[in-house]
Amino acid sequence: MGQIILKDVTKSFGSVDVIKPLNLDIEDGEFVVFVGPSGCGKSTLLRLIAGLEDVTSGTILIDGQDATLTPPAKRRLAMVFQSYALYPHMSVAKNIAFPLRMAGLPKSEIDKKVKGAAATLNLTDYLDRRPGQLSGGQRQRVAIGRAIVREPAAFLFDEPLSNLDAALRVNMRLEISELHNQLGTTMIYVTHDQVEAMTMADKIVVLSAGQIEQVGSPLDLYRSPRNTFVAGFIGSPRMNFIDGSVAASHNAAKIGVRPEHIRLSNDAGDWQGVVGVSEHLGSDTFLHVNVDGIGTLTARSDGEFGAHHGDRVYLTPAQDKIHRFDGRGNAL
Ligand code: ADP
Ligand code: MG
Repeated sequence: MGQIILKDVTKSFGSVDVIKPLNLDIEDGEFVVFVGPSGCGKSTLLRLIAGLEDVTSGTILIDGQDATLTPPAKRRLAMVFQSYALYPHMSVAKNIAFPLRMAGLPKSEIDKKVKGAAATLNLTDYLDRRPGQLSGGQRQRVAIGRAIVREPAAFLFDEPLSNLDAALRVNMRLEISELHNQLGTTMIYVTHDQVEAMTMADKIVVLSAGQIEQVGSPLDLYRSPRNTFVAGFIGSPRMNFIDGSVAASHNAAKIGVRPEHIRLSNDAGDWQGVVGVSEHLGSDTFLHVNVDGIGTLTARSDGEFGAHHGDRVYLTPAQDKIHRFDGRGNAL
């Protein structure tokens, strides 16, 4: 089990309201990602769920039980941090076994669970090593192993991959998703990286300034962002925003078009402009085009599109992919 419900939860530090009244339902077995810019309250929200911080007001239900005042150790949730917090003098086996030894489980049972977790995480060959003899990715797996043996109702991850290099991050992302498929246990994962959110989540919770901006599946948020904040945060490169007369002609205060929804041509199109920076990634080319009367727009073309600094190009937005917003930034 691992259903978590937050009802009107708030958190203030002194006079600063870090979490504004917030409601959220997390279903058993879901992979939920909290994403938002640095300082928006992601870690605080996770720590409230873990019980590491007390709520200022509101209720937290875990599997239908009021857990608002339950101490962290009794919530059956396992937290995995960015800093692995492994014991350097203990072997991998002892590190993984640690919470079970603290709980006083018999040795035979501890051995069995440690072996099971090690097998799940491909750590069987490393059980006798010390953390110092492991790579960053392996250390992160040991930290996850220590969480797995507790058989928690949910795993809580706070930016667990931010200490790893880019290639390893992609690897661990896949491993954590695979682990979720295997275990089927609720996971709540905090990140500021929208790519991690998009690739891992069943459900994304976009936060800004202690408030939920939108909750939905990755494709829900991509296709139907509720406001300019979500529209600009989800998707890479970022959505282009245009106001003024172009937006007014769509009966909107502002319109948004994603770079992948703009068709580029050398000879004809709705808008024309001059190429500034072009980024050739091989698979795709991103052109930053200074469009006459509009400003700089980013457009994606295939990797073979030949355009360089100073070239005149034509852009045509896909009409059915234009997002319209009112003067307050809410989707129309
Ligand atoms: P995030 O994880 O999204 O980067 P945090 O949840 O860590 O953000 O912090 C949200 C806000 O709450 C920040 O402005 C931070 O300075 C503030 N904050 C976090 N913890 C404390 C604390 N213990 N005391 C005072 N302010 C805090
Ligand atoms: Mg944080």
